[in-house]
Amino acid sequence: MVERQLRARGISDASVLAAMAEIPREIFLAPELAHDAYADSALPIQAGQTMSQPFMVAQMTELLAPHPGMRILEIGTGSGYQAAVLAAIGCSVLSLERHPELAAAARTRLASLGQLDPRLVDRVRVEVADGSVGWRLGAPFEGILVTAAAPRVPDPLRRQLANGGRLVIPLGPLSGQQLTQVIRRGDGFEERAFGGCVFVPLIGAAGYKEEEVRRMHRWPGPFR
Ligand code: SAM
Repeated sequence: MVERQLRARGISDASVLAAMAEIPREIFLAPELAHDAYADSALPIQAGQTMSQPFMVAQMTELLAPHPGMRILEIGTGSGYQAAVLAAIGCSVLSLERHPELAAAARTRLASLGQLDPRLVDRVRVEVADGSVGWRLGAPFEGILVTAAAPRVPDPLRRQLANGGRLVIPLGPLSGQQLTQVIRRGDGFEERAFGGCVFVPLIGAAGYKEEEVRRMHRWPGPFR
């Protein structure tokens, strides 16, 4: 995975490549999907959500320019894999997830990483919350990583980004987004797009509204 899917496609940050070589992807999946853990694709997890494609995890992580001790807010814990990769780099991660069952499963999986390196466990905290409005009490964050599609950069996340900090977010309609890096420069923000991607929606007060998503997907029940 690291050689063929990441390095060959231009991922060059040594800490990202080492972290993705270190963290076993299979423990973040249901046992019946473990044989697909290193496939070049996103994979299904509980609650109709996804664990992102390895290349997308690597690209988003690289765009954050992570370093040991960096304080990162992740929106969309999902399986917990992305948070584990950041922890392996040495970052301190607060990860927010709107589905309580996903947060609970991710906590259990992240705790099991203690067998690999006990320090990893202390570096990640998972909370159940609407991450579209961020986590005001922990701000400012040096990095904010949104792993779900947003219609625009949520204002609360701009406010919670430290000066010089980086925010990485898929921006655009549900049919397809642009992976976007936002760097805070005082009261201004530099934005740069890094190509197309397709993510599940960021559903919340400063993201897509659940009603809107259900209508667009012609979804009969609650969107999961
Ligand atoms: N980072 C994850 C991983 O490594 O497995 C992949 C995340 S998945 C593509 C997107 C996640 O964002 C889903 O688990 C979804 O429930 C979550 N999500 C969507 N809207 C959210 C919100 N407002 N707050 C927190 N989590 C949200």
